[in-house]
Amino acid sequence: MRDIFRETFLGFIRVHLLHHAAEERIFGTEMIEELARHGYELSPGTLYPILHAMEAAGYLASEQELVAGKLRRYYAITPEGLTVLEKLKQKVRELTHEVLKAEVGKPAAASKAHRKPTT
Ligand SMILES: [Zn+2]
Repeated sequence: MRDIFRETFLGFIRVHLLHHAAEERIFGTEMIEELARHGYELSPGTLYPILHAMEAAGYLASEQELVAGKLRRYYAITPEGLTVLEKLKQKVRELTHEVLKAEVGKPAAASKAHRKPTT
């Protein structure tokens, strides 16, 4: 993967992680499967440092729990993480609106009109 593409891809991954952690606490292997479902092939060696960095930044908080005899680390979103997620959602909405505008088949003149965001 080229670096510039990888940087973007890793940004999308962070948005996904915050989004899912806001719904319910997440854990690594579950997120690797979830992201694979979206077409992101991610190794634990890539995912875990991202989770650790997001926790160090204060966006996630983790706790370990014994599950079927193995320690599993769960990550929950923090209030800071929720604030960042709200900002990111704004950016995603705006970016999607602009970048995908050309693909909805609107004539150039009509494309300036703001469409209602569908979430
Ligand atoms: Zn997802």
